[in-house]
Amino acid sequence: VPVEPFDIVVFGATGDLALRKLIPALFHRWCDGQITADSRIIAASREPMSDDAFRDIAARHIFERDPTDARRKAWSDFIERMHYVAVDVSAQGEDWADLKAALDPDEDKIRLYYLALPPSTYGQACAGLAAQSLNTPNARIVLEKPIGTDFHSARRINDQVGEVFRENNIFRIDHYLGKETVQNLLILRFANYLFEPIWNANGIDHVQITVAESLGAGERAGYYDRSGALRDMVQNHLLQLACLVAMEPPASLDPDSVRTEKLKVLKALRPITAANVSQDVVRGQYQAGAVGGSPVPGYAEEVGSDTGTETFVAIRAQLENWRWAGVPFYMRTGKRMGSRRSEIIVQFKPVPHDVVGAVDGVLHPNRLVIRLQPDEGVKLMLMTKDPGPGGLRLRYVPLNLSYAEHFEANYPDAYERLLMAVVRGNLSLFMRRDEVEAAWRWVDGIIRAWDEGQAKLYGYQAGTDGPTQAALLLAREDREWFDAIRH
Ligand code: NAP
Repeated sequence: VPVEPFDIVVFGATGDLALRKLIPALFHRWCDGQITADSRIIAASREPMSDDAFRDIAARHIFERDPTDARRKAWSDFIERMHYVAVDVSAQGEDWADLKAALDPDEDKIRLYYLALPPSTYGQACAGLAAQSLNTPNARIVLEKPIGTDFHSARRINDQVGEVFRENNIFRIDHYLGKETVQNLLILRFANYLFEPIWNANGIDHVQITVAESLGAGERAGYYDRSGALRDMVQNHLLQLACLVAMEPPASLDPDSVRTEKLKVLKALRPITAANVSQDVVRGQYQAGAVGGSPVPGYAEEVGSDTGTETFVAIRAQLENWRWAGVPFYMRTGKRMGSRRSEIIVQFKPVPHDVVGAVDGVLHPNRLVIRLQPDEGVKLMLMTKDPGPGGLRLRYVPLNLSYAEHFEANYPDAYERLLMAVVRGNLSLFMRRDEVEAAWRWVDGIIRAWDEGQAKLYGYQAGTDGPTQAALLLAREDREWFDAIRH
């Protein structure tokens, strides 16, 4: 279904995110007929260039991945709607007037300002928009992560943006929330009777959230080295996933009901302090090893200095509320791990009595596996009887819902879905200001504890699942990380 006509300004249009994700996402939505011909795409960054020069750069990114001619015709129609304007957002120069001139003068038209810019410039970009009265009633601003580097800087950015845009027009993007399986988590939980009665400390033993990357720091090493895994991944993606698993049923799926419940989860996180950080948090950094059979250098060698930045973090988090009392939420994320995968595992309690123990003795607990990538899908791991005449043998097998097999394989990627959600004004997939700030408060506690000298950094070989201490985090409680890909 086409969305209403809109104008989008992609600030930072010559950057990695815009060229690799945003412009392709808009193009794909155009190809599927969701963007109408009276919409406009204004690409903006500092370097002066013509419309055609920018279109050529964008085309290279689109067609190097998909070199077929099938979409060339669609591309030539699409780029008629795409223009380029040079704007330096950190200077209040004349170029802002050029931007205004490139937009449809109809002030009621939906406008999106997507800040694919360094976060330090968000405030200036908003001031520039305000100076030209571009914050029209239907204007929406999209902020990329990271919003700040701690609670105070996040609050400052939120204040600056809040001076120009109302909270309901601010879309703080976390692209994990645009993934099909993540959205489906709410439907699984709240549109089925099966899970909710046991979705608590009575029925659930623990939760695991893994976001593993096989890539190293790569081209964004400068940013990453200042940030580290905790700020880059846990503050946003992992905590957002934890919120969706742990939140109370909202009264409805309207944005503020959902976001208020998520906020309560963030506020229920037991603070991690110098007293418990070395017990509950493992920091790691990858060393030379092999990924996918190819040798790769260690992090220090890759970034050219030994900075002590963590490329891996594993956390045992605890929620202090009735539903989750005593249920650990184990979270881990890292670069240069054995495989690229993101998954949530909800492990239920073992059966109270083992009626078949005499026969086999190995009863695995049920696990719900929600796979975000690769191969989005949901699996419920069950004990079953191995069919056949060979007596009572048990097997641990998945009840498997693979998205690619079950649904049409071509559903939009996270950025496509999120961009269209912004056009529709649907805030439920975006973080509210208080969520971002609450997440930073909790993460700041860990960073403070590290700063107080509790920041031991363990090495791990590239291509593995992180330092052995991460396995011990669970092993000391008789648990282990479950790797759904191997099952
Ligand atoms: P990038 O490759 O460094 O691109 C930054 C863009 O901003 C460039 O187009 C740059 O172009 C423009 N720019 C910088 N200063 C500017 C100014 N004063 N006025 C106007 N334009 C300016 O960065 P990126 O990787 O695309 O990331 C952009 C944002 O998205 C960052 O906030 C980042 O944290 C976030 N993000 C990126 C990714 C990703 O996968 N890349 C993922 C998640 C979040 P000129 O220098 O030509 O002006």
